[in-house]
Amino acid sequence: MRLSIVVPCYNEEAVLQLFDAKIRETLDELPIEYEVCYVDDGSRDGTLNLLRTLAKDNPETTRYVSFSRNFGKEAGMLAGLQEATGDAVVLMDADLQHPPALIPRMLELYQHGHDQVIARRSRDGDKFVRTLFSKLYYRLINRAVDVELTDGVGDFRLLSRQAVDALLSLQEYNRFSKGLFSWIGFDTVTFDYQNASREAGETKWRFSSLLNYAIDGLISFNNRPLRLGIHVGLLLSALAFAYAAVITVLAIVNGITAPGYVTLLVAIVGLGGLQMAMIGLVGEYIGRIYYETKRRPHFLVKERAGDRLDRR
Ligand code: UDP
Ligand code: MG
Repeated sequence: MRLSIVVPCYNEEAVLQLFDAKIRETLDELPIEYEVCYVDDGSRDGTLNLLRTLAKDNPETTRYVSFSRNFGKEAGMLAGLQEATGDAVVLMDADLQHPPALIPRMLELYQHGHDQVIARRSRDGDKFVRTLFSKLYYRLINRAVDVELTDGVGDFRLLSRQAVDALLSLQEYNRFSKGLFSWIGFDTVTFDYQNASREAGETKWRFSSLLNYAIDGLISFNNRPLRLGIHVGLLLSALAFAYAAVITVLAIVNGITAPGYVTLLVAIVGLGGLQMAMIGLVGEYIGRIYYETKRRPHFLVKERAGDRLDRR
């Protein structure tokens, strides 16, 4: 059999060489053919140069594509999956947070007939705040969307050819892989591993990008958040009517006494905020339609290397 390793890299010059050495060390031990597909996601450091060198050193087992600019990890993974020729594909980060030593285990499970073999990490060593937010988020999102998302389950996984082709058949512009993996289904198995911290370089996630990612996840799958908006709206108007009734009765009994400007202010500001959030939500869905209708490619390739003759 033939295994493809797909590695999106963005500014990973600090760790890439080490990664390449480690992954080969693992793969050379296994009785399989393999290829490592790197995707340079428009890095601004020496990543591309390193990839050129790596491809020169091991031309049979290395291929890479390099994007014209940074298109994001989702695009990187998509490009890698398109590039991969193997019977199975393992998606990995370049920073060695996904231990290559787990690959034999994944292969074994794959050979037992599983189409998706997921390695789930613990959150040891993560910042407390990030862990907290993640926990809250997953609790919330699993109510909101109809695919199952699990904390600690990331992109580190093995996919069978069938699963890869299924993923590639999903051509939406806004890709939220975590959800897509879950959406395609197939025979899935999960095992746990101890979280490792980044070997070198630094994380590309800022708080704002995590927040955006979270919002993406929430609205990538269905329109339940819109439905929720309707529910909240109805609930609030019901409360308002009830309150109006109480006030009316009080006014009849006591006569008009209190000026009640605080109530007014709270109602105006509260409802105004809620309405803005809901309009934003609707806009977000419309924005997605806008992007989908443009039908732009997910990424642009400026350079590539590797043997493409054996492509399926
Ligand atoms: N990555 C990418 N494009 C981006 C951001 C990240 O290809 O725009 C890659 C990055 O090089 C790494 C992986 O995605 O291989 C995970 O990134 P990172 O380690 O920064 O994320 P974290 O592990 O902190 O979630
Ligand atoms: Mg990382």
